[in-house]
Amino acid sequence: MSRDNRHASSWLIGESIRETYQGVGCEFRPKDIVADIRKQYGIQISYDKAWRAKELALGSIRGSPEESYNTLPSYCYVLEQKNPGTITDIVTDCDNQLKYFFMSIGASLAGFHTSIRPVVAVDGTFLKAKYLGTLFIAACKDGNNQIYPLAFGIGDSENDASWEWFLQKLHDALGHIDDLFVISDRHGSIEKAVHKVFPHARHGVCTYHVGQNLKTKFKNPAIHKLFHDAAHAYRVLEFSFIFGQLEMIDPRAARYLMDIGVDQWARSYSTGKRYNIVTTGIVESLNAMLKNARDLPVLQLVEKLRNLLQKWFVTRQQQAMSMSTELTMWADGELRSRYNMSATYLVEPINSKECNVNYVGISAQVNLDTRSCTCRQFDLDHIPCAHAIAACRFYNISCYTLCSKYFTTK
Ligand SMILES: [Zn+2]
Repeated sequence: MSRDNRHASSWLIGESIRETYQGVGCEFRPKDIVADIRKQYGIQISYDKAWRAKELALGSIRGSPEESYNTLPSYCYVLEQKNPGTITDIVTDCDNQLKYFFMSIGASLAGFHTSIRPVVAVDGTFLKAKYLGTLFIAACKDGNNQIYPLAFGIGDSENDASWEWFLQKLHDALGHIDDLFVISDRHGSIEKAVHKVFPHARHGVCTYHVGQNLKTKFKNPAIHKLFHDAAHAYRVLEFSFIFGQLEMIDPRAARYLMDIGVDQWARSYSTGKRYNIVTTGIVESLNAMLKNARDLPVLQLVEKLRNLLQKWFVTRQQQAMSMSTELTMWADGELRSRYNMSATYLVEPINSKECNVNYVGISAQVNLDTRSCTCRQFDLDHIPCAHAIAACRFYNISCYTLCSKYFTTK
């Protein structure tokens, strides 16, 4: 019963706590091991020994990073065989070490081509395992406004070469997409690579990241709130009003935002090609979900990603089958709340497709032919605004027919 019993070696402790580490991503810290060993066996061990025991237990369950890496090519081969359309790639450096990895599952690609808005958010997150640097993610939003992962990559770090490699692989996997819109944070390497690899695509910055930068740079909650409202405004007039207030409080913050380029982050200055997606929050949420997987060896990490996709495809298929509405639950909810708003709107026809819609002295002009309204919500969301819904009622047209095909349950 000496203070640090030499018979209670890190190997022995590692074997005795092995069970605890079964299952991916469970958190078990060295200080928990110290407490457990004291409680179970009445032995006091040092933090260092607990740390070594943890490494040994993990190594014995997951295999070494080297083993994991060596199995990756055969894993990718089977993955492609079993999932038609799947694209993987592994690049090694001159020392035969993993340099880049890419994976896009066939089902993700097939769904993207038939049913997903062509707005792709890309981001990178650092990995904690030995040898691994950065996880690259490309994701979209499905018709029910849920995250739809498109592709994953692994590279050394976020730099010009790794971003260009990942985006080039993504480009090869997707083929040419008309009206593609790419959203990312303001990392110089991403912007450069997007312009190089997708020269025809529009690029916008993620409002979440700009907001976070504003918070750290100017440390004023009022500025952050005004920025958020300005970014989400649909009309230029409304934008100018809010931005004017921001400029009065802090001209330096206003200049900072102008320098980024208003068309890069403000909804009112964007074209309909961005739909209603203003942030890469998509990638932020995925990051949070993968939090515990970031210290896994490469093969286990890739398998964890594949497994996540499998689960999501099953749940969403069940969800979609249970939807009896013409639109997805999310889009139907949006349309319903706009429908309720439109109840008291007054329609004054101009011709068979155009009209003015008035509500307490505020007027908007709707064109059902071009699916447009001067409030710009219809144009940007691709779901009729309350004015357009009032117009539909007046002309006896189903407002469902004016929604983008991306929001239909079909
Ligand atoms: Zn409108």
